[in-house]
Amino acid sequence: MDKQKPRLCENKDECCGCTACATICPKQAITFNYDMEGFLYPRVDFTKCVGCLKCEAVCSFKKDLKTPLMEDSKTKIYAAKSRSRDIVTNSSSGGMFTVFSDVFLERGDIVAACQYSYESASVMLSIITDKESRDKARGSKYIQAELKDSFDKLIALLRKHREKKALVFGTGCQIAGLDLVLKSMNLRDRVVLVDLICHGAASSNLWKNYISKIESEKGSSISYVTFKNKRNGWESPSVFAIIDGKEISIKSYADWFYMGWSLRESCYKCPYTRIDRRSDITIGDYWGIQNVMPEFYDRMGISLVIVHTESGRKLFDNVSPAIDYQLSNRRECLQPRLISPQRRPNDRDLFWSDMQEKGMDYCIEKYVEHDDVSIKKKIKKCLKRLLKIQ
Ligand SMILES: Cc1cc2nc3c(=O)[nH]c(=O)nc-3n(C[C@H](O)[C@H](O)[C@H](O)COP(=O)(O)OP(=O)(O)OC[C@H]3O[C@@H](n4cnc5c(N)ncnc54)[C@H](O)[C@@H]3O)c2cc1C
Ligand code: SF4
Ligand code: SF4
Ligand code: SF4
Repeated sequence: MDKQKPRLCENKDECCGCTACATICPKQAITFNYDMEGFLYPRVDFTKCVGCLKCEAVCSFKKDLKTPLMEDSKTKIYAAKSRSRDIVTNSSSGGMFTVFSDVFLERGDIVAACQYSYESASVMLSIITDKESRDKARGSKYIQAELKDSFDKLIALLRKHREKKALVFGTGCQIAGLDLVLKSMNLRDRVVLVDLICHGAASSNLWKNYISKIESEKGSSISYVTFKNKRNGWESPSVFAIIDGKEISIKSYADWFYMGWSLRESCYKCPYTRIDRRSDITIGDYWGIQNVMPEFYDRMGISLVIVHTESGRKLFDNVSPAIDYQLSNRRECLQPRLISPQRRPNDRDLFWSDMQEKGMDYCIEKYVEHDDVSIKKKIKKCLKRLLKIQ
């Protein structure tokens, strides 16, 4: 009988790049290669492949596109923030990443989260062992993480230290892929999975080209980058890099992200732009908190916390002395990325062909955020609409 051929990534919009397929493959037959836009996609080496189809079985993105996740009536929703002013100020939202990871780090358990590497100008899923390196993983990076063999490393650690548990943070699609891998290896009950509400993932190579252009113009390397600094408050995030002690604007890159030009094809179809997930807990910004709980508003940020499972509930209970929180509900907490994916811009293909043919400088001039369709405006419009319906 002919061996079966896995059908992994027949269309680009069906693959989020989570690497679950490569992690599970018993023959190391799957590798990842950059496409023209700088996103990583799997490729099967059919000389190694034995047709077991284990890779297809863990492709949660494709499964969840076909059959959306069911609504769970046990889900609990909260507005929450750390009681520490320092943590809230230095985090993207209300500091729940720090609060949750403290529990695991203090017990000597494993924590994995996405950090920015100044050496490789990329975001990587790293194993974190102390609070100092955890603090470096704070902050939203608007660059798709390059997962490479991160899931393999995490699994190796879980197998080596059988007494330890792990806490993993990632986007909805990364966590959904990891969920199925861990289940297939009987490791899921030792891991708490926390995913993010997510606008999308921008090409990692686009960022590398963008920042290397700035660095070569300035003749020096960046020492710091932030996509969500709160010096003007949580709702007006500042985005900048620092070179030689001076602040440099990276607004064009942020505009491409917010407007959706630079996102991966899968993001426009994302099945995780909803409340129900494969994770134990979902965290994000509680946009519009001032409309539904004005007394709980904090100009430095409030997190939205969605607790899906029993192990999520245990972790939330565990951190309750370290946070202030209020119970919310499915209607109050809605925001654009809990309703539908970012719309694919009509001129997305033109953006990428301009980038390839006319270059970065041309695109910096041409592709700028329009107020009428920016994500910030859309969040405000969406919240106003929802309030009218209530
Ligand atoms: C690309 C992206 C888009 C987002 N879009 C939305 C949105 O539309 N609406 C919303 O409510 N919230 C969104 N968020 C989530 C929000 O910005 C905060 O990251 C989240 O609320 C956690 O904040 P915090 O204060 O708990 O943690 P922080 O201390 O700021 O920690 C940030 C967490 O995000 C992780 N992270 C950062 N960058 C990446 C990345 N590129 N890939 C994977 N993980 C990463 C870090 O590892 C850490 O776990 C987005 C986050 C990212 C990374
Ligand atoms: S498992 Fe993940 S990386 Fe592999 S094909 Fe599916 S979505 Fe893509
Ligand atoms: S079918 Fe099996 S051997 Fe072939 S790529 Fe998929 S997991 Fe690997
Ligand atoms: S929008 Fe969806 S597919 Fe895109 S990075 Fe976020 S979770 Fe993944």
